[in-house]
Amino acid sequence: MPIAQVVVDVPTFQINTSYSYLIPANLVSIIKVGMRVVVPFGRRQVVGFVVALNDNSEFDGQLKPIIELIDLKPVINEELLQLAQWMADDTYSFLISCLQTMIPGGMRTKVKKYLVPNTPSAEEMVNQIFGKKDKVEYQNKQLDSATTATIAKLIQTKQATFEYILSKKTSEINQLAITSLIDEAQAAKIKQHLKKNATSQQRLLTILGRLTEPILQSELTKQKINASTIKVGEQNGWLQKTTIVKNRDPFRQEVQSTQPLKLQPDQDHAVTTINEAIIQQQPTTFLLEGVTGSGKTEVYLQVIANALKLGKTALLLVPEITLTPQITNRIRSRFGNKVAMLHSAMSVGERFDEWQRIESGQAKVVVGVRSAVFAPLDNLGVIIMDEEHDSSYKQADNPRYHTRDVAKWRAQYHHCPVVLGSATPSLESRARAYKGIYQRLLLPKRINDHALPHVDIIDMKNEIANGAPSDLSQPLISAIDDRLQKHEQVILMLNRRGYASFVLCRSCGHVPQCPNCDISLTYHKDTNSLRCHYCGFSQPMPNKCPECGSEKLRQHGMGSQRLEEDVNQLFPTAKVVRMDVDTTRKKGSHERIIQRFGQQEADILVGTQMIAKGLDFPNVTLVGVLNADSALEFPDFRSSERTFELLTQVAGRAGRADKQGNVIIQTFNPDHYAIQLAKTQDYEKFYETEMKVRQQGKYSPYYYTVKITISSKEETQALKVAYEIQQTLVNQLSEQTIILGPTPKMIKRVNNKYYYQLIVKYRREPELHLTLTDLLYDAQNKAKKGVQIGIDNEPLDFM
Ligand code: ADP
Ligand code: ZN
Ligand code: ZN
Repeated sequence: MPIAQVVVDVPTFQINTSYSYLIPANLVSIIKVGMRVVVPFGRRQVVGFVVALNDNSEFDGQLKPIIELIDLKPVINEELLQLAQWMADDTYSFLISCLQTMIPGGMRTKVKKYLVPNTPSAEEMVNQIFGKKDKVEYQNKQLDSATTATIAKLIQTKQATFEYILSKKTSEINQLAITSLIDEAQAAKIKQHLKKNATSQQRLLTILGRLTEPILQSELTKQKINASTIKVGEQNGWLQKTTIVKNRDPFRQEVQSTQPLKLQPDQDHAVTTINEAIIQQQPTTFLLEGVTGSGKTEVYLQVIANALKLGKTALLLVPEITLTPQITNRIRSRFGNKVAMLHSAMSVGERFDEWQRIESGQAKVVVGVRSAVFAPLDNLGVIIMDEEHDSSYKQADNPRYHTRDVAKWRAQYHHCPVVLGSATPSLESRARAYKGIYQRLLLPKRINDHALPHVDIIDMKNEIANGAPSDLSQPLISAIDDRLQKHEQVILMLNRRGYASFVLCRSCGHVPQCPNCDISLTYHKDTNSLRCHYCGFSQPMPNKCPECGSEKLRQHGMGSQRLEEDVNQLFPTAKVVRMDVDTTRKKGSHERIIQRFGQQEADILVGTQMIAKGLDFPNVTLVGVLNADSALEFPDFRSSERTFELLTQVAGRAGRADKQGNVIIQTFNPDHYAIQLAKTQDYEKFYETEMKVRQQGKYSPYYYTVKITISSKEETQALKVAYEIQQTLVNQLSEQTIILGPTPKMIKRVNNKYYYQLIVKYRREPELHLTLTDLLYDAQNKAKKGVQIGIDNEPLDFM
């Protein structure tokens, strides 16, 4: 008997093995690995993925049959299935969550499926079944199994295709259209028999005679042909009403096409070396280390062009949204509509459309953020990760994968190189390059020998001692003044990591706290409210101190909103734009701000870390960092790395064209090595210094780490389980392995849940994998008792 192995989606009962189900006779020839099915599970019906097909089952008892086939074409291909299996193992997560992560969001929600015939014979068959031609909505349940089988054959032999349309969005994108059923000669003939005064019919016929493709009904309306005329046309058999699915175009602006630039020698060396690996099908990982403005992006573009020339596809990964508008425009200017984009500012529907273009082979180049690493591209020629050090490449929730690891896995599968690009590579990557595991490619100079910006460090302790009236130091104020006079542009960055503004009562010292979390509330001026950035709690700003009744409640710390006000006050004639989470919440607003600033409609761009990456504005000659060290005191061993990286990146925004750039960094720790070395933008020196710190502290990349988080609404429960796990680890792991904790997280209570964590540090620990896998399975029992356990292999976040 043919049997399908199905991985089922049951949240509280997960295992990484599959269950066996009988395949009903009529589905035997249709069902494929990678399709989703509905199967009985206990008394429920659940969705599952078919992961294998075989003739027999080990299972002796009575097998239940599959109830329904959701897909008639696999949504997970062979490669992704293998990848999911590896990922589940590597990230200590369940196979089902890995599979779910790989398919686009739209697939997981409700979709309408339309069957579109591609050949005349298929059209005839579809016609017979549905009594209609071009495309029909398809629903499994309405059809008998023989029909299902026929359609499945059409799909599998590519005689017909499915178009998936999100049902919610249908109304937005389905537009009424008209297809002509007559040619010019026929139209002319019909016209002769029309009454002279039937002018709108005459006009309609003229249009229909020339029509080569469907026209929107709204277009006809514009040409003064109304619905009743169209109806007459339909009744007379001149035309047919259809709907056009307007493809949601994620590219909002048109892009001019550009030609490859003549490469500088270092760029040329990098491109040639990578091209060679593509041709030789070597899964080499390259570390492309190039200072800001050294032309890394041009290297990516030419490498991609080469992959395409060889008939291959390419994947370019970029950090979260921040730098997508500029980089995607550059990509599109070279590769036009071969490019598909996948990022989080797109709607579910847009991403879904793009996924289909990739899956069907229309799109050959994919540009996207973290999850795009799963794009179902065939025949990959190269995978590029820009700003490889960026922490958005690591997923914070299950499955906690790092994009870099997935990229390297896929490169092995496709025998293609991976290019990791950065001005400030992660220490892990740089150390691997040092060991020869990655091949290092260097772009040490800026294009056209533009000088790196000159960096000044301002000691804010002195500024305050000298009675600085605002958070902007005198040197920074003078420098801004100077640029404004020269009509050059300025970027001011506020480092917001862990730096929120709070409210303090000047009479009694009370700071309003979130009732659900152990954190103070943040003041939001636009809504005059206090909000919690962790759980979303919000309350109106009180007029009086809730503790002592005093009216002296004042805002402390600086938010980007306050900075914008200060700047407006100091420079009343300057135009200021602000970019932070509050101003970029609406779709497209991020792009608009960048565009406005790029077209020099504003003099000063004020913002958070968001503005640090990737932006390329030639007229920016001054970058100011208001509080360079707000992340330095954090209890996270990567604080220095993050600070160095951020300062180097943001400094790289200055002086990218002919004018010399200047950077002013305000800090309370002017002597800290991360700040001193950011001044000279000396990555190599930073790497050496930081590696020593890591070695002494037994941190990555010298040690591997795993973080285990235990959380519960009952603090005692969380602690109890945390100690149990600690005991298990101590018993099972070797003595050389370091187990830290349990300790409360930096913010112990979030949304009324208590968080504790354990850190495991090790160099070689053969028992670890099994121990943690056991823990993963046991976590489900604990979850039933209200304690959640999370395992994070190589965490990026320790707080
Ligand atoms: P990075 O990605 O390393 O920060 P970019 O690729 O953005 O650097 O390059 C910086 C600037 O130099 C861009 O404006 C780019 O168009 C330009 N550029 C890059 N390569 C060349 C080249 N070979 N010749 C001329 N200009 C170049
Ligand atoms: Zn008070
Ligand atoms: Zn809260």
